[in-house]
Amino acid sequence: MLPVKDAENLILNTIEPLTETEPVTLDAVAGRILAQAVTSELDYPHEDNSAMDGYAARSRDLSSASPDQPVTLEIIEEIPAGVSPRHPLQTGQAARIFTGGILPLGADTIVMQEDTQKDGNQVKIFSAATVGQFIRKQGSFYQSKQPLLPSGIKISAPEIAVLAAMQCREISVYCPPRVSIFSSGNELVNPEDKLQRGQLVDSNQSALKELVKAQGAVAIPLGIIKDEPDLIKSAIAQAISSSDIVISTGGVSVGDYDYIENILTELGGTIQINSVAIKPGKPLTFATFPNCYYFGLPGNPVSALVTFWRFVAPAIKKLSGQKSNLTPTFVKAKTQQELRSGGKRETYLWGKIEAIAGEYEFHVAGGSYSSGNLINLAQTNALAILPIGTKFISAQETVEVMLIS
Ligand code: AMP
Ligand code: MG
Repeated sequence: MLPVKDAENLILNTIEPLTETEPVTLDAVAGRILAQAVTSELDYPHEDNSAMDGYAARSRDLSSASPDQPVTLEIIEEIPAGVSPRHPLQTGQAARIFTGGILPLGADTIVMQEDTQKDGNQVKIFSAATVGQFIRKQGSFYQSKQPLLPSGIKISAPEIAVLAAMQCREISVYCPPRVSIFSSGNELVNPEDKLQRGQLVDSNQSALKELVKAQGAVAIPLGIIKDEPDLIKSAIAQAISSSDIVISTGGVSVGDYDYIENILTELGGTIQINSVAIKPGKPLTFATFPNCYYFGLPGNPVSALVTFWRFVAPAIKKLSGQKSNLTPTFVKAKTQQELRSGGKRETYLWGKIEAIAGEYEFHVAGGSYSSGNLINLAQTNALAILPIGTKFISAQETVEVMLIS
């Protein structure tokens, strides 16, 4: 039984990121991983502009301005955002300017509206102003041709805003991994099938499909494969030749119907991991083929999801070309209930984490606690972790928690 941390390291060190790239437009870039650092021809801000509604002025004109002795300037034009100033400022002149308005030539400061009083085409300024005050200098946020976004990051709304603002129209991203998923078990039926005695719905496939898609990968659901070595073998052979990762659930323990590990070997795979000191999820198989990685997850619904979150999600991220934030996020939380473990395996207890008055609280899920109980997994968002050797954590003690939302 490999310790969890060792299994994580082995998996992440083994996975080689995919290298195929494709260009996409801004509309299609959400969730993708940048394959090349992005630069822009533009400066940001594009020109010197005003950060305030107020007056553009020359700071030297205002050095003596105070509430008792305001300086009066002549207003020569109005510069709303989007308009080019027409006149350079001369001594004694100001331009009415609005947030985003371009700074006129000759001006070196902005006086905010609140420190002024307008009177016809004149304005009284009640405070001195420093050079550069409330001016957003051209290129002060970004200078053209400098690195704008690095390769290997996942694109979401803030990066899309950057790419849009900087007119990056064609963006090179990695092609997403193709992830095949199948379930093995004679007892399994599809969600819409009529249940016979002893049968069980293949819930893993539906959940894993969504989890794979949420990682930005392409999910290829292959359905249910009966526990028959020939069927499993041909399904795996086909899957490894047409995908970058194959995930199966079930059939990886030591039961009489658990064939997967042998079949992987027969097909030329190398078993890198066949059991991990984790509960739930011990019988986890990780195997490598020349062009494919194989994860054989346990069939129990909770075990399948916990091992996906803990090991498969980071693997998909690495394969996708993502360079940072591969592993889950862990935080410290105060458990609201006592937590127990057998102590022999790193134990993951599902529940809910909430931030209360600046501190995280963990509430272990109610109901029966079993890796076969998927019912009380609903509406959980975190896993409390009891390390090997820790059998008990009392209520109000601090526990390490992995976020799963
Ligand atoms: P196995 O890992 O095949 O020994 O399965 C362990 C337990 O998980 C058994 O009770 C199975 O019925 C159940 N199980 C296996 N596969 C699935 C699945 N795809 N969806 C839901 N439960 C499953
Ligand atoms: Mg089975």
